[in-house]
Amino acid sequence: MTSTPTPAPTTPHYPVAIIGGGLSGLLLARVLIKGGADATVFDLESGPEARTQGGMLDIHEETGQAALRTAGLHAEFRAKVHPGGEAVRVWDKAGALVHEEADDGEGDRPEIDRGDLRALLLASLPASALRWNSKVTGARPLGAGRHEVSLADGTVFTTGLLVGADGAWSRVRPLLTPAGPAYTGISFIEFDLMDADARHPEAAEVIGGGMCFALGGGQGFLAHRETDGSLHIYAALQAPEEWLEAHDFSDAEQTRELLLDAFADWAPHLRGLLDEAEHGFVPRRIHALPAGLTWDRVPGVTLLGDAAHLMSPFAGEGANLALADAADLGTALLAHPGDTEAALAAYESVLFPRAADTAAMSAASLDMLFGEDPARRLVDMFTGTYDPQD
Ligand SMILES: Cc1cc2nc3c(=O)[nH]c(=O)nc-3n(C[C@H](O)[C@H](O)[C@H](O)COP(=O)(O)OP(=O)(O)OC[C@H]3O[C@@H](n4cnc5c(N)ncnc54)[C@H](O)[C@@H]3O)c2cc1C
Repeated sequence: MTSTPTPAPTTPHYPVAIIGGGLSGLLLARVLIKGGADATVFDLESGPEARTQGGMLDIHEETGQAALRTAGLHAEFRAKVHPGGEAVRVWDKAGALVHEEADDGEGDRPEIDRGDLRALLLASLPASALRWNSKVTGARPLGAGRHEVSLADGTVFTTGLLVGADGAWSRVRPLLTPAGPAYTGISFIEFDLMDADARHPEAAEVIGGGMCFALGGGQGFLAHRETDGSLHIYAALQAPEEWLEAHDFSDAEQTRELLLDAFADWAPHLRGLLDEAEHGFVPRRIHALPAGLTWDRVPGVTLLGDAAHLMSPFAGEGANLALADAADLGTALLAHPGDTEAALAAYESVLFPRAADTAAMSAASLDMLFGEDPARRLVDMFTGTYDPQD
């Protein structure tokens, strides 16, 4: 009896492969699919609920909101906005409230919970456009703009357009540039106070209904009231990498003591936020790519969001730029059917200068917030009287 040879498995091919299902990757897929084009998103997570997506994002009119309009999702976004979330308080480290703004509902930077924004993007896509459990480990050019992409499970696929939307530690970026993120010297230690009005009334009073900054001496607390009534707080400090490596942040009591020590000369009601922290502390080192990063056009591959221009969060623009990049790339691809290179060149001609300007702004904000007299300078920025030479 003759046995039939098993056919060699064919390598799957995706016309457009978007690596990363964060804000940028999902919005790009939405714009393309809504426009009648093909797109598949690959993400390393096991599913949409694999990771909690904490934190509030203020979405700016000219970038993030414009992108959501392009994606046909602005009404869904408005329905999820946190009422009152645009309120702002600024304290100095001595405990004086130096600025307070109520949310009058007229602001152009509405706040949304990051998890809600991601959920509405996910809900706008067909399940067939999402490939979970797909950790990309590398990619290689095959010529004529095609790439072969390798996944951690050992499988490969090919694509006609490879988009790196895979964040700070992008596996696609090395195809375009050897540049990588560097530590800014600032770290956040993140913590939460749950059910604040009932369980942490003093902290709730300090932070108010929206965003709160407490600044001084190269340190600070950056905090938000979340839609679920919790307070999400970052203790921010200038910290050498060796200092971070020397501490075990999984030991909550040791970390609390470390931070109480670091904030020893702060007003008691601000320092007291640390006493009330629940569920421990999570360290987050703030990294950035070189400001003004560009690359020469490489056929069939590009980047967007943090993969293209990771910056410190001090201008509050990273998520907004990620959405704007995605809308611009999607629009360019739909405007140049059959000419991917023309679309990528058009997209990158907008991406590079916008990212350079915003990265410079983020770096200047970092210097301001962690430099001399930061509370007053931040208030000057809010009131439009800020002079960077001051
Ligand atoms: C502490 C902090 C506070 C911030 N606050 C603000 C703010 O207030 N306002 C604002 O505008 N921005 C803020 N940002 C910045 C903002 O979060 C980012 O700029 C934004 O999320 C970038 O979106 P993205 O889609 O480019 O990347 P990400 O949101 O990082 O998404 C990347 C996706 O890629 C996936 N992925 C990664 N590697 C791989 C791989 N190898 N294979 C497959 N999938 C992969 C990940 O699972 C993830 O889903 C903040 C950032 C930080 C760190």
